[in-house]
Amino acid sequence: MIKRIGDIVLIQLSDIDSNIYLVGDTVIDCGTGFNFTRLRDIFNALKRNMNDVKQIINTHCHFDHVGGNGYFLNAKVAIHEDDAKVLEKGDGELSNADFFDGKLHPRKPERILKEGDKLNPDKLDLEVIHTPGHSPGSICLYDKKRKILFTGDTLFSDGVGRTDIAGGDPKGLESSLQRLLKINV
Ligand SMILES: [Zn+2]
Repeated sequence: MIKRIGDIVLIQLSDIDSNIYLVGDTVIDCGTGFNFTRLRDIFNALKRNMNDVKQIINTHCHFDHVGGNGYFLNAKVAIHEDDAKVLEKGDGELSNADFFDGKLHPRKPERILKEGDKLNPDKLDLEVIHTPGHSPGSICLYDKKRKILFTGDTLFSDGVGRTDIAGGDPKGLESSLQRLLKINV
């Protein structure tokens, strides 16, 4: 299923895949990779080619967000410094790939993100907000001008990210959510 939010395309593949946002030639999160053919069909329907995606921003290192990274053959991966090692090692426990019965292929991210970094996919002007708790390197991406916040698994419309998993930290999540409360979205 797809939804258009202005020039942002939200792609939802299944209950276990993360939201995938397509913004120009950037993708924010990639799902598990289990539903690759469905994703390819959606790109075809959008008259887009997955090989034209230049940049992947992962909001954190969990398998349901990064498992599909490898299907974008020409994209460089950006992820927060505190979650980068999980990708680099293909860590099945900390990525929760084991939980999903998936295999995370080790991959060295091309860009390591930290608090305050700027990313500019297409018409967006995103700033990295480090929001640890759901995972140590969870980030939100904020476009101040357009008042858009991509929250990954830190915050949902009906709840917050779980912390009872490997790498989770309830206290950290609480302070991250306190920070987000002050943001105008
Ligand atoms: Zn997650």
